[in-house]
Parts: sequence; structure tokens; C-alpha cells
Amino acid sequence: MAGNVRLLFAVLAIVIAPGLCGCSPARYGQRPGDPLLRCGDEIVAAGQFFHTGNPVVLWMDPGGYDAYRCRRHFEPELIMPHTPAAPLDPNRYGTRRNLPKDVEDRVTDRGWSLDEARRVVDQFVIHYDACGTSARCFKILHDMRGLSVHFMLDIDGTIYQTLDLKERAWHAGTANDRSLGVEIAHIGAYRDMKTLDEWYAKDLFGWPYVSPPKWLKERKVRTPWFVGRAARKEVVTGNINGQDLMQYDFTCQQYDALIKLTAALNRIFPRLRLDYPRGDDGGVRTQVFTEQELAAWSGLLGHLHVTKEKVDPGPAFDWDRVVEGARRERGMTW
Ligand SMILES: [Zn+2]
Repeated sequence: MAGNVRLLFAVLAIVIAPGLCGCSPARYGQRPGDPLLRCGDEIVAAGQFFHTGNPVVLWMDPGGYDAYRCRRHFEPELIMPHTPAAPLDPNRYGTRRNLPKDVEDRVTDRGWSLDEARRVVDQFVIHYDACGTSARCFKILHDMRGLSVHFMLDIDGTIYQTLDLKERAWHAGTANDRSLGVEIAHIGAYRDMKTLDEWYAKDLFGWPYVSPPKWLKERKVRTPWFVGRAARKEVVTGNINGQDLMQYDFTCQQYDALIKLTAALNRIFPRLRLDYPRGDDGGVRTQVFTEQELAAWSGLLGHLHVTKEKVDPGPAFDWDRVVEGARRERGMTW
């Protein structure tokens, strides 16, 4: 009998032990030291890679923008000066706060897993960067203001991820605890045409395209010779948080990228709903949320819904194009 038990344990050890040793590369036809191949479309959430179907440059990639670094990106020899916007703490990001008690305990004990991040993240804040290019955005946001955002979306549709999505980026005040953020490269919305005339030229057919002023140093985008045409020909007007504004539309490449990114985020973080704040007419709400409304909201929202002084992403931003596109990507029919 004892011999049979020993035999049983021996068989179990042979069958189960390799499984207990974790993922064996040999099991998948890989050998130690083989590189993990990437497609160049991956974003990172709690250390895991997820496809988006759109070009993504991560903070760890050549040409990426690294929000973890304490030094400046564009003038690396200079440490951040201790200005009010950049206090003694050199970090530009932090740990998500006001977490459910059990999530906080587990995160404190062993760091973030995707499960914990999924319980917390349910908002995606859309900004325009008022800088015109993602390179200039990172210089001003990270180097000069001591702030951060998870994604930057350049005029050619390239997505830059600067931090793991588990981090609390500093981009939208009270929404930072629960949200992800994207800064879309765009010079912005204004009361008159002065800045728009400075940043846009028109082609032979009168169609506006991005043409940054000569003084801009950070004008390089990843796609050579890229021409950033506005998705709509006419300037778009609208009132946001009490301000009458005019703005050219974003580029089609930015919309396509944002649709794929939004669909991916909805799949990774199921509590982040594919919808935007709506007014009585069913169109986008153009007024800031109250504190209670912001607390109750899960889904996409603009910086304008978080802070009364903000107007981004502006009247030209096509919320339906993004949300309906993302729903189609996810196979939703409503
Ligand atoms: Zn903003």
C-alpha cells in the first residue's frame, strides 16, 4: 500500500511539477534569451501589453517620451528648477488615491495588478494640448510645468504612451484618481482667428492644414513629410463653459487613432463606458460637471467637464465620430 502511495506521489510530481515552475519558454517553442516580438501597436497597463491596431511609441522605446524620468527631456543636463509648478519632489506622477480599502491594502502590499486597476479606472479625459505637436506638448507639460499624461496623440496619428496606465498622471485635477488622459496635438480653440491664422495654411482648394509658425522648434512628427489636414474644411464655432470659440477640426489620422485607442481601453477597463456626457438634446454637454455628476460619471469626458476654466477638447471635437467608431471596433450595435 505504502509503495502504491509513493508511486502515486512520484507520478503526480512528474505531471504537476513543471506546471508549478510557471511558464516554461520551451513549452511555447522559445528558448531563454529569445526576444519577445512586438508589433509596435502595444500599450501597457499594469505591466501587461495590449494591442491597439495603431502605431504606438512607448516611453521605453527609441523616440519615446518618458514621464518617469526626473530630468528634462529636451535639456537633459538641467534638473527641474524648484518652481511652484514643480516642487522639490521631482516626480511628475503619483499613486492613485481614494482607493477602496481592499484595493489600497493589496496595492500597498504587492503593487498594482490589472484586476485592481480595472476596479479603479473608469474615466478617459480628452484634452487638446494647445501646443500643436506632441514634442512641444511634452516639453511644456513635463519639462516646464512638472505635469504628466498617459497618452499624447500627434497630428499624424502616432500615439505616445508616457507612463503605465496604473499610474496617477497629473492632467485633470480631481479626475486624476480614476482617469486616464490623452493630450491631442492641436493648437486649440479661440475667441478670434488670430492664432488659427498663425497655425494653419490653406491648400489650393481652400482646405486648412497645420502649418506651425517658423519660431516653433519642436515641429518634428514621426511620419516624414506629413501634412495634417483638418477633418472638416470650415472652422467650427461653439460655446463652451460660457465662452464663444472657433476651432479647426482635428486630423482624420487623430480620429482613427483615438477610435482604436478608446476601443482598446474599453476592452482593458470594462468599467470605462463608450459614451460621452450629453446635454438635453442628446449632443455633447458643453458645461462643467458638478462634483456629484463627476463622481457618478464613467466613460469619456473632456477637460471642460472637469474644470470650469477649461474648454478642451473644444467645439470642433467630434464626440460621435470617436464613440460610434469605438463601439463599431468593439462590435457593439447600439
Ligand atoms: Zn486639458
